[in-house]
Amino acid sequence: MSLTFRQLQDAASSTYTYLLGHRGSRSAILIDPVFEQAQRDAALIDELGLTLEYTLDTHLHADHITAAWRLKRMLGSRIAISAAAGTKGADVELEPGDRLSFGRRSLEALATPGHTSGCMSFVLDDKSMVFTGDALLIRGAGRTDFQQGNAKTLYRSVTTQLFSLPDECVVYPAHDYNGRTASSIYEEKRFNPRLGGDRNEEDFEGYMKNLGLAHPKRIDEAVPANAVCGRIPAAELPATAGWAPIRRSFAGIDEIDPEWLATHRDSARVIDVREPSEYAGPLGHIEGADLIPLGELASQLGDIGRERPIVTVCRSGGRSAQALVLLKRAGFDQVANLTGGMIRWHELGLPVAHDA
Ligand code: FE
Repeated sequence: MSLTFRQLQDAASSTYTYLLGHRGSRSAILIDPVFEQAQRDAALIDELGLTLEYTLDTHLHADHITAAWRLKRMLGSRIAISAAAGTKGADVELEPGDRLSFGRRSLEALATPGHTSGCMSFVLDDKSMVFTGDALLIRGAGRTDFQQGNAKTLYRSVTTQLFSLPDECVVYPAHDYNGRTASSIYEEKRFNPRLGGDRNEEDFEGYMKNLGLAHPKRIDEAVPANAVCGRIPAAELPATAGWAPIRRSFAGIDEIDPEWLATHRDSARVIDVREPSEYAGPLGHIEGADLIPLGELASQLGDIGRERPIVTVCRSGGRSAQALVLLKRAGFDQVANLTGGMIRWHELGLPVAHDA
């Protein structure tokens, strides 16, 4: 298999984001990224050694803001969405039948309007997976009561464009509100209560007319933002740590590179959370580092000043990550974990102190 594939979730909006990467070229595409999850997604892309070529939205969402523009700023990715979505600021405006390549793999765009007039689904080159957005959901279908929604159009999109795919093709929707992650064309043809089995266009229309859904909570904020591909005024962007070039890992830990600490030693207080024997042992310690073993950190939080940023250090970067979690929980916001701990520090040949 030459494909790296990950399904990610934004719990607040029940949105699924999909990462597809071609192993050989390291090129990747991210489908339906969520604004608030941009850092998480960027960390995963970085840790997997991938380059994000495109973000791809299945449609102009009404329930969350796309991370397309934010990821473009962070990673230089290009923004792709259907031309029919009518957005401003996209780099690639897709027409039905267009292919979007990532390395030697590609996705083909299918027009599947009905939930909105600009909805597209994307089929992987070998037809093993289809990303259906809100056109076809697991045992459901996207609502058709706003954003130029039309039940007749959606019925035809699903039955002609999607149900003609191979039975075994795995269906990955943009949302699920019941913890279901994937389905297949066969299952949906057979068991979808709105569109499957013997349901016809009239059955579907009747069903959709009587859903009685509440107005989406974020529609007034999300639709205008998504009309410009998630471009948000700089003032509203989440604040980044001003004191150091911090990377938040996919594990959620704020990490700082040893090279940065070595050249900015005065910018932060270094707290070494190993045992005294390790601090005085063969690996030594960073000049001026304060020794507070992890087991004693919780009881000493009151004595730690909040004026200076803190870098936590241990042998390999594991215990110090736990120290960072403790400090953050206690309200210290300028904290970073030294990536790779003293082991990495040694590997890089950075200066070590050996006093007790
Ligand atoms: Fe939608």
